[in-house]
Amino acid sequence: MAVRLETPPLGPERCAEWIADSLRGLFHGEPTASPRFRGGQRAADEALAATDVAGYARRRNEVWPPSRRGASGLSPWIRHGLLPLERVWDSVGYGPSRDVAKFREELLWQEYARHLYARLGRQTRDSLRAELAHDDEWGDPWSRDMRCMAVCLGELEGDGWLVNQTRMWLASQWSVRGGAPWQDGEDRFFRHLLDGSRAANRLGWQWTVGAGSGKSYGFSRWQVEKRAPSLCRECKLRDACPIQHWPRDRDRKRVTVPARLDRDPDLARTAGPTEPERRGSPEIVWLTAESLGDEDPALTANPNLPALFVFDEALLARLRLSGKRLVFLAECLADLSTRRPLEVWRGTPEAVLSGRSVACTFTPVPGWRRLSGRLPLAEVHPWPGLSRPHDGSVRSFSAWRRRLET
Ligand SMILES: Cc1cc2nc3c(=O)[nH]c(=O)nc-3n(C[C@H](O)[C@H](O)[C@H](O)COP(=O)(O)OP(=O)(O)OC[C@H]3O[C@@H](n4cnc5c(N)ncnc54)[C@H](O)[C@@H]3O)c2cc1C
Repeated sequence: MAVRLETPPLGPERCAEWIADSLRGLFHGEPTASPRFRGGQRAADEALAATDVAGYARRRNEVWPPSRRGASGLSPWIRHGLLPLERVWDSVGYGPSRDVAKFREELLWQEYARHLYARLGRQTRDSLRAELAHDDEWGDPWSRDMRCMAVCLGELEGDGWLVNQTRMWLASQWSVRGGAPWQDGEDRFFRHLLDGSRAANRLGWQWTVGAGSGKSYGFSRWQVEKRAPSLCRECKLRDACPIQHWPRDRDRKRVTVPARLDRDPDLARTAGPTEPERRGSPEIVWLTAESLGDEDPALTANPNLPALFVFDEALLARLRLSGKRLVFLAECLADLSTRRPLEVWRGTPEAVLSGRSVACTFTPVPGWRRLSGRLPLAEVHPWPGLSRPHDGSVRSFSAWRRRLET
């Protein structure tokens, strides 16, 4: 059954109450707003305007205290389409060339993650190059007795965000030292990260534990002393540090590499249309969690149509995302509703959209493909990427990039 909901109200606390009332039973923990990130186009635009990439190359890996960091913190808005990659790319051109180049390379990693996921979909949950041996039983690899772990988990669960470096610490600690399957750790991240996407999260885990590259990233006290020295000084285990030395390298076995890593036999399916496909006259623009920004192509092509968003009940019941993630989405919708008439629903997109004439943007994720096959789509607009997926190798970032440049 589908239920039309009130439009979420403006303001993080009111959005949190709205989530508690409207999506009861469909999230993990308390629905509170991230103290650090506000949902919505206005907040995204302000964050981008305040981004200064000077010093990015030198400081992007710094961890603690937060004032040492060079990371932009733009990922939650990038994830949900409020900051399209091309706009972010163009906006940093003024900066020092080394920093601009490094920052843009990271945007390309995001694009690579999306292309890989667009092609392989759910197969990205399998180890793509090598299977790391995991223990039959494992304890809690993320012991909060260690100050470094406690601070990282505090940020993951409290803010819903981590810098890249501490994502690698947690992932390595979970699987390489802790012996737990990487897919379980990936789910833990996905539950909490405001930028959590299967595309980038799985790539990050595969790459860190060595499932996607064949070489694991080892985490030890050395990185903490270098990137966050005060954490070791404050740690009650500083004289008995459980990560004093490098972790032993785990056994790994080769896996059969999916043929689709080397060649895409169905590029049109992966990449979607190059031009808007028009089959009728739409009455509404369907937005998804991938496309909540004002620059969504289907929205901009239909400036006079109302927008519609569905909180997919079955999906949320299965994922149990943290309340914080849902509050962020509600804030995005509340902000959008100040510029567009907006319908917000709880149910399945099929039930809500059945019988309606819909415009939307192609989204290179399995869930969208599955749904779009069953929906009456009057218009489908091309996905706004930095580049169009190619049909060559996506085995590694460098292979993907080489082909992109030819
Ligand atoms: C284990 C693990 C899990 C990860 N999970 C996610 C995830 O769920 N969602 C996500 O967007 N990123 C993920 N990343 C990639 C990266 O850590 C984050 O994109 C980055 O930390 C976001 O912070 P930022 O916006 O300050 O990044 P910045 O360093 O300021 O970079 C700017 C933008 O470039 C992109 N970017 C930067 N580094 C990477 C990278 N290594 N891979 C892909 N894109 C990158 C992001 O869009 C980011 O917002 C993961 C990395 C690892 C190692």
